[in-house]
Amino acid sequence: MQYNCFIIHYAEVALKRGNRPYFEKKLVKNIKSATKGCGPVEVDRRWGRILLMITSRTDVDGVIAALKTVFGIAYFAPGCIVDQEIDDIAAAALASIEGHSFETYKVATRRANKHFHMNSVEVNIHVADLIWEKTKAGVDLKNPDFTVFIEIFDDVALVFAHRVEGQGGLPVGVSSRAVLLLSSGIDSPVAGFRMMKRGVRMVFVHFHSAPYTSTASKKNAEKLVEILTKYQFNSTLYTIPFLEIQQHITSIVPGPYRVIMYRRAMYALAEKIADLSHCNALVSGENVAQVASQTLPNIRAIAEDVSLPIFRPLSSFDKKEIIAEARIIGTYETSIEPYEDCCTLFVPENPETRAKLPVVHELAAKLDLEPFYAQALENMEEKSFKFENTK
Ligand code: ATP
Ligand code: MG
Repeated sequence: MQYNCFIIHYAEVALKRGNRPYFEKKLVKNIKSATKGCGPVEVDRRWGRILLMITSRTDVDGVIAALKTVFGIAYFAPGCIVDQEIDDIAAAALASIEGHSFETYKVATRRANKHFHMNSVEVNIHVADLIWEKTKAGVDLKNPDFTVFIEIFDDVALVFAHRVEGQGGLPVGVSSRAVLLLSSGIDSPVAGFRMMKRGVRMVFVHFHSAPYTSTASKKNAEKLVEILTKYQFNSTLYTIPFLEIQQHITSIVPGPYRVIMYRRAMYALAEKIADLSHCNALVSGENVAQVASQTLPNIRAIAEDVSLPIFRPLSSFDKKEIIAEARIIGTYETSIEPYEDCCTLFVPENPETRAKLPVVHELAAKLDLEPFYAQALENMEEKSFKFENTK
């Protein structure tokens, strides 16, 4: 017997009682987007879970790979939806063990339809006996190597065995939108991924200093957005020229304070992008004390004038943890490609590590950045990305 469906269980979605239909609809929509290109599938909400029906022409491996990228899924399993006949249920259960070897097993039946002529214990025993005849494995109800799940609803039964872990989290889009300040480095893509996992859709902003630097950082940022788009299906990247702003800052600000003033300018522009793209927050890859610009006094000085909330999901991570996550997400290789970081332009070896607010205020008053911001926004590029499932 071939699989004819995937049974998909939500993660936290079930907890949000009032919003549940909204969450479920978003999840269904995201699953459809993720599995586009996998051949025919039908996705529906049924019995408090999601059913994805496939046909013999569906690319099953493609569906599995796609479902692994969808936030909001606790786990999923390929399975069979069969008529409510014990022989059909048993045949599907036996098919589900094919290709698996185990020493102990268990059959777990849930009977939502109390009219079915056998109760769940009777179904468990009947199917477990058949599995024993085939495998001679032992039943272990507490800690089995393998579990066959049978769920009896309305007039059908679902049979599945092989659960695959999903991403967890919440469906992208249920938690509004935020602007991610995306460098070409390792941290910010991971920060974006973390927020997407909480259901927040990312709008990407990248600052570059071309033509003073090469366009490598811009290209890397595009590649990173392409990778992250796998998790939110469509994205917009705003690429903002930053060189003239840096030159203006350099002409007024002494070396040790330049990075701080660059960062303030980045946040000011990111906030403007947030306004025009209807975002409620900013996200950065900042990490406490990782580099000189990220001491607490500096983070404070950098963020002082920003009125939107700033999320820094990696603030407490070790670099090792961030790198491990970047590898899993698939951004690491792109992040370590060489590029010239605009923030290292025109700055000395010894940047200020304890920004003094009165100094920052004095410097900010001397700068006249608004015209430069307007110019930068006029010259920014906007690029759209769409996820293509090419598996
Ligand atoms: P990353 O690995 O993300 O570059 P980092 O540890 O190198 O982070 P910084 O270079 O100090 O740290 O940057 C801190 C944060 O500022 C970045 O995570 C990112 O959110 C933002 N940022 C830095 N440079 C840029 C840029 N060129 N464009 C957009 N955002 C940037
Ligand atoms: Mg960086």
